[in-house]
This record gives sequence, structure tokens and C-alpha cells, in this order.
Amino acid sequence: MPDVKGFLSDKEAEKLQELFLNVYHLGNILEIGTYCGKSAFNFAKVAERKNRIVYTVDHHTGSEEHQLGEEYHDEKLFDERLNKFNTLPEFLNNLIFSKMGKCIVPIIAKSEKASKIFEEKIALLFIDGGHSLETAINDYECWKNKICSGGLLVIHDVFPNPQDGGRPPFEIYSLAKESKEFKDHGIYETLGMLEKI
Ligand code: SAH
Ligand code: MG
Repeated sequence: MPDVKGFLSDKEAEKLQELFLNVYHLGNILEIGTYCGKSAFNFAKVAERKNRIVYTVDHHTGSEEHQLGEEYHDEKLFDERLNKFNTLPEFLNNLIFSKMGKCIVPIIAKSEKASKIFEEKIALLFIDGGHSLETAINDYECWKNKICSGGLLVIHDVFPNPQDGGRPPFEIYSLAKESKEFKDHGIYETLGMLEKI
């Protein structure tokens, strides 16, 4: 496994595997936000053993905070040829190196567009995409009904205290929690976890 760039802590990475292990019998998994593949490879470790698929959606041009001059910009992921932030070459490199291509299906598209053509019911939805309120709500609204009953909704970067980080992931976690569609399973590190009723 290559050293994959990304934003998950080791404990979160382990937790994602554990969560998927709890629901893999219900179906495959889909994540929004591939970046260089860190979370996808963690899910894939389970998928490989249990004969499941990890769908991972990203347009690969980065979120607001990854763009040139922004806080989380990584100059090594800036594509001079396209004059754009571009995580696809690094992700593909990691995908080939990890030999997990058999259980990972990359979907290179905007989340909303992908949701319009994706019809399968999923066991676990991991939302780790854009952090603007509009994008976060859109991810939640477009994908939440594709989780099967008993399946999980897991949201990354959930910060109950605004001083710790941006609010939109926490806002969608709260939306789900207050809706009658999900049962709250609490927060682990920055992972908000809910079960579809
Ligand atoms: N899960 C990754 C980190 C994802 S970072 C890991 O474990 O390392 C967030 C990613 O979401 C970025 O790569 C960005 O390109 C993608 N993204 C942001 N908004 C998106 C949208 N509307 N549709 C698809 N991808 C989006
Ligand atoms: Mg994140």
C-alpha cells in the first residue's frame, strides 16, 4: 500500500473499516470525495475480503480549500498542463500500486450528476466531499435515499464546536439526526454516524 495523501486520522481509517464490516452484508459502499484514495483504500480492504465494491465519486479538481492559494492547497497536485488542481493522476497511481482496482469503481463526475444515474441501493454512504453549505446539503439530499434500510450514513469533518472547524458537515449531520429517516449513532473523532431507518 503506498503512502496515500489524505485527511483521515489513523483511528478514523480503522473506524471506517469497522463500520463497513458491520453492514457489508446489505450491499456495496459509495463515497463522495476520492481525493487520492485514502478512505477508498480503507473501505477496499473490507470489500476485497467480503466481495463487495467501493464506488468513489470525485470530479478530481479539488474542493474550495484545495485551490491555489487556499489553506489546504498541495502544489504537488497542481497540474501545470491543465492549469488546474488535479488529483486524478495521483489517485490512479495509488490505485494501480495498491492492486485494489478489482473492488474500486471510480466515478469521475460531480456528485449531483453521478447521483442522477446511480440506482443501486447502498449499505454505507460516506460523505467527504465539498465543504460549502450548498455542496454539503446537496450531497445529503441527492444521495440519502440510496442507503438501504439498516445501512449507514457516515459524514467526515463533523465539528460540533465551531472553533474546531467549518460547519456544513455538522449541519447535514444535524439535519439527518433531526429527520425521522435516521437513528443517531454519535460522533467518533470527526465521523458523524447514523443508521437509515
Ligand atoms: N476521502 C478523501 C478526502 C476527500 S477531500 C480521503 O480520504 O483522503 C474532498 C474531495 O471532494 C476533493 O477531492 C474534491 O475534488 C471532491 N469534491 C468536492 N466537491 C465535489 C462535488 N460536488 N462532486 C464531486 N467531488 C467533489
Ligand atoms: Mg474530509
